[in-house]
Amino acid sequence: MRVERGRGEALLVPGRRAVPPPTVPAPGLPRAPRPFRPHVGTLAMRRLHRLLEPRRLWYLFAAWLERTPRAYRLFTRVEEVTKARLFGCRMCAQCALPSTAYACPMTCPKQLRNGPCGGASPTGGCEVYPDLQCVWVAAYERAERDGHVADLRRLQRPVDHRKWGQSSWVNYWLGRDEDLWTEDDGLGPAPRLIV
Ligand code: SF4
Repeated sequence: MRVERGRGEALLVPGRRAVPPPTVPAPGLPRAPRPFRPHVGTLAMRRLHRLLEPRRLWYLFAAWLERTPRAYRLFTRVEEVTKARLFGCRMCAQCALPSTAYACPMTCPKQLRNGPCGGASPTGGCEVYPDLQCVWVAAYERAERDGHVADLRRLQRPVDHRKWGQSSWVNYWLGRDEDLWTEDDGLGPAPRLIV
């Protein structure tokens, strides 16, 4: 039987366990998502983030980078290497880290940006990689430790897949990330049932 497999999908053969996707990408494609435990604490990251919040200096720097392709490529490469080591970043270019306790949702094998799927194990294991912790369990534990659980209630906008590979810092400084997530879960009081 021939089984088609798309980018990042598990290989599903009837009656067999899911085979994890390969972790080495084809040239030009992002690495397959695999749960990643961040290597840096949330407090340090929040401090760094405050330093790098959008302001005129960063706006001008980002605008210059975009006008200077070689500098943009170099900056993006440094960002890619650094964030891959610290967060398992896959360069979606629309960074959710500040709202997920700096656990990257794009390392979820299903790339879920709004919480875990129904397949996480009772001990917090990923459904696709049972030996690894679910990204969203890691996010919750980290958010709980520094009192930011409410951040996880924000709703994340779907990813714009045309932006993969761009610098998320440049997008952030140029104000393109302003509506990446909502202020709260947007649910409000339950609507009245109409009977
Ligand atoms: S840019 Fe995207 S892939 Fe990279 S850390 Fe942020 S959310 Fe994850």
